[in-house]
Amino acid sequence: MEDILPEEAERRFNLEMIAREHLETHGYKEIRTPVLEDAAVFTRSIGEASDIVSKEMYTFNDKKGRLFAMRPEGTAPIVRAYIEHGIDKAAYEPKLYYMGPMFRSERPQKGRSRQFYQIGVEVFGTGSVYADAEVLSQLSGMLKLFGIRGFTLKLNTLGCKNDKEKYSENLKNYLEREKNRLCPNCRERMNKNALRVLDCKVDPCRALLRNAPDIKESLCQECGGHFNKLKNILKEMNIKFKEERNLVRGLDYYTGTVFEITHEALGAQDALGAGGRYDNLVKDMGGRETGAIGYAIGVERVMLAINKEAAVDKKKTVFLATLGDKAKIEGMKLARQLRENCPRLVVVTDIREASLKAQMRSADKSGALITVILGEDEIAKKEALLRNMATKEQIALSMEEIVKEIKNKLFRGQ
Ligand code: AMP
Repeated sequence: MEDILPEEAERRFNLEMIAREHLETHGYKEIRTPVLEDAAVFTRSIGEASDIVSKEMYTFNDKKGRLFAMRPEGTAPIVRAYIEHGIDKAAYEPKLYYMGPMFRSERPQKGRSRQFYQIGVEVFGTGSVYADAEVLSQLSGMLKLFGIRGFTLKLNTLGCKNDKEKYSENLKNYLEREKNRLCPNCRERMNKNALRVLDCKVDPCRALLRNAPDIKESLCQECGGHFNKLKNILKEMNIKFKEERNLVRGLDYYTGTVFEITHEALGAQDALGAGGRYDNLVKDMGGRETGAIGYAIGVERVMLAINKEAAVDKKKTVFLATLGDKAKIEGMKLARQLRENCPRLVVVTDIREASLKAQMRSADKSGALITVILGEDEIAKKEALLRNMATKEQIALSMEEIVKEIKNKLFRGQ
């Protein structure tokens, strides 16, 4: 679990703001659920055989002996809340988004930690293919807004519950015949949840899986039609995707459309995000039959993928170096004027009564683009020195001209 220090926290904040605005303009509303849940919320939905439940969940008994889990993902708790609060009857559209920390006890490596942040959405109450298309278009739009370019949308379908069961049986039969060539892990997985074998990254298993039965052969007419229609809509909308026949999700609740976003620069942990339909989950958790689809993206991986200079624009800073009481008071007035006129500008003033030399060092450290210098001489002349921190050039300006000049220099055209 990692500390997020100020520089990174600022980048995260900016990213979250972009995401919020994007999602709200698509009609999504925020939901926040607790970090702790009854562990059964996850075991019943994600599945006992999944890695998350069988190996990765942080659980503990409270003083009354109840088993709690630190949430490993966002969907199951939101489905729990959806049922508990009758959100299906709420006045707003049940298009929800969330952001926050998730916890999984995995072996840490680049792009994988035990506490990580996700931004995700869940759309309830529709089985329509247009919901799938909207979610995917909205997701790829958000990644582009973040400034990410080199991502790939991988797409597949698992079919409905019946199709999935039929396919699982076909796959199991095939794997049974090839059992001796499977890795020990897959030999075990095969009986618990055959679909999980498709996730295996070991070479001999991968080679074997290339000839495994294709899920498309097990799809009913409706599910096949849904998938073809989705692909056509995406093509019409110019949303690029790659059909991947062996893409399944490690969580039991998925049915129908499933997808994953990968990024070429991420290395072994290359998934930026993933999601899909889960049309049976609300009912399975005690609600009414409800079509639903969602996704989650991993914030740490998104940050890794973002080109350092792109997207998350650094806030502009002005430092006010002041000497003597009169200058300090003028400086504070100037700071207020600057903040009123330039909403996103960071204005740093000297609050230590430090020497000019020390203040200039602080100005450097703050990353200021401009330093305004106000000493006794300048006050007497009712002017100030404006120092361009990159070129070291200084110009003297009257107090009235300063705000205008800074606005012009730092925010021209905005
Ligand atoms: P999942 O809920 O497993 O489908 O994960 C969705 C996304 O969350 C992944 O594509 C990753 O970007 C991110 N993610 C999952 N597990 C971790 C982890 N342990 N550390 C960092 N990011 C993660």
